[in-house]
Amino acid sequence: MSKIIAITNQKGGVGKTTTSINLGASLATLGKKVLLVDIDPQGNTTSGVGINKADVVHCIYDVIINDVHPKDAICKSEIDNLDIIPATIQLAGAEIELVPTISREIRLKKSLQLVKHLYDYVLIDCPPSLGILTVNSLTAADSVIIPIQCEYYALEGLSQLLNTVRLVQKHLNTNLQIEGVLLTMLDARTNLGIQVIEEVKKYFQEKVYQTIIPRNVRLSEAPSHGKPIITYDAKSKGAEVYLELAKEVISID
Ligand code: ADP
Ligand code: MG
Repeated sequence: MSKIIAITNQKGGVGKTTTSINLGASLATLGKKVLLVDIDPQGNTTSGVGINKADVVHCIYDVIINDVHPKDAICKSEIDNLDIIPATIQLAGAEIELVPTISREIRLKKSLQLVKHLYDYVLIDCPPSLGILTVNSLTAADSVIIPIQCEYYALEGLSQLLNTVRLVQKHLNTNLQIEGVLLTMLDARTNLGIQVIEEVKKYFQEKVYQTIIPRNVRLSEAPSHGKPIITYDAKSKGAEVYLELAKEVISID
């Protein structure tokens, strides 16, 4: 059974891209076939798995807007079992270009249906907004992972996100589930982190993953080397926790 998971939160800097890359690479290392779909115009997932954007022939923009077959946009990463449909800055225009088009909310869903069967997991890295690209992602997905940074105002904006999820469930994708809520960037030295964990668990209860991602400097260094943490520094805490998360995600299926 293959599953499409959107990694989403309209807040920037909460760990969506880091989670897409490293959960994807960890699942692949555990033998699952994984497709990353980069739908953020910043394209950080694309460069984070070592793809040079200048070499990209077809990106997710061509798939959504120009009806390019998704198979023609899939690139292999350096990790076995880990493929990606890349994003380039071209995608920045898509929010506006999609507005007048027919079936604009279901374009990504239709495309991914053509390749979903080739993978165990398809992970979509969403942009930091609740615009039409995120709506496309939620419409295409079976479930969502919501990364939440262990910071002040962690829950701020979440009601808006959950409202968007409900609207998509009502009008576009009745089967959309919450896969899990992931606490990220925990600084174990502060009480604040503990408070945030309690608050988030009160709100989302058993949906919160047992695995909590700590702040780890190796995780922040890896993207500039174009490598997931598991190849950049396999012995780091960051590599260890994302592998744990991957096992937890698999165990829930
Ligand atoms: P988003 O995609 O939600 O905007 P990112 O994954 O790009 O968030 O993370 C924002 C920044 O924080 C990036 O510079 C990233 O390298 C860094 N970062 C993410 N997770 C961690 C972590 N667990 N420890 C240290 N730095 C992290
Ligand atoms: Mg991002």
